[in-house]
Amino acid sequence: MNYRHAFHAGNQADVMKHAVLAYLLDRLCSKPAPFFVLDSHAGIGLYDLDGEAAQRTGEAVRGIRRLLSTAPALPAAAAPYLAQLARLNGGALPADGTIRSYPGSPALARGLMRPGDRLVLAELHAEDVETLRGHFRQDTQVAVHHMDGWLALKAHLPPKERRGLVVIDPPFEAPDEYERMVAALALAHRRWSTGIYLLWYPIKDRATMWRFHQMLEDTGIPKIAAANLSWADDDRSDRLNGSGLIIVNPPWQTEEALAELLPALHQGMGAVQGGTACHWIRDENGQPGR
Ligand code: SAM
Repeated sequence: MNYRHAFHAGNQADVMKHAVLAYLLDRLCSKPAPFFVLDSHAGIGLYDLDGEAAQRTGEAVRGIRRLLSTAPALPAAAAPYLAQLARLNGGALPADGTIRSYPGSPALARGLMRPGDRLVLAELHAEDVETLRGHFRQDTQVAVHHMDGWLALKAHLPPKERRGLVVIDPPFEAPDEYERMVAALALAHRRWSTGIYLLWYPIKDRATMWRFHQMLEDTGIPKIAAANLSWADDDRSDRLNGSGLIIVNPPWQTEEALAELLPALHQGMGAVQGGTACHWIRDENGQPGR
């Protein structure tokens, strides 16, 4: 395991993933019944953009730091994400974008939970899981597990709550990560078919993305949406050209919200190539949606 998310925190992919995650969590907050969140590949939870790792790559400069300079123009769907960024940075977002604290998926989820909601985090890296634990030590609503996230999906689903969200965000170091993700989703969905699932994957060459979408379609799971944000037109497998999300059981009107949110993020991060798209892989009736 070589991957450390601290080198990539706040980059373009993080912005897309976390803005959508915050939107989905906010939608869960619109009903009073408690919800459950499982984050199978949690990372360290909260990132220091002035820290050595983030500074070494500078990836946040093209991601969140660039976006924040255009924050006032973002649509309502971005509000939950921006509110969490502000909460973690002294209550206000500087117009030049130089925030220091950047929330990973665990800090975002925790920030959007209410009393009674529950968060389970799995992280396999021995050092990173300790950092993660440090953020939630006294928190009775959060459980941190040093374990394989793929096994966590089996161990923690279905939850006792009837509503909730599962985040699956592996590092894509292994060549069979796409296959593993599809198998994990199929297993998790068999155990808990009503939960919302948010899966992140890298957009590199198009053939790999199409194969992944085909594998998802072949599961027969209904209500699978795909959302893309790319910043390069390249069809190359040797670099990250964009960020992809799979959303299973998206709440009503998510498609409309993303149709506003994603182009605004693309523009806000100053991308001049690539673009955004959102479509069903299988729709509400289980029909292939292309
Ligand atoms: N979800 C995090 C966020 O948005 O803030 C970022 C997660 S990062 C892309 C992937 C994480 O998965 C890394 O911290 C890595 O150590 C961890 N990881 C790798 N293999 C794992 C496994 N089998 N089970 C759980 N965690 C794993």
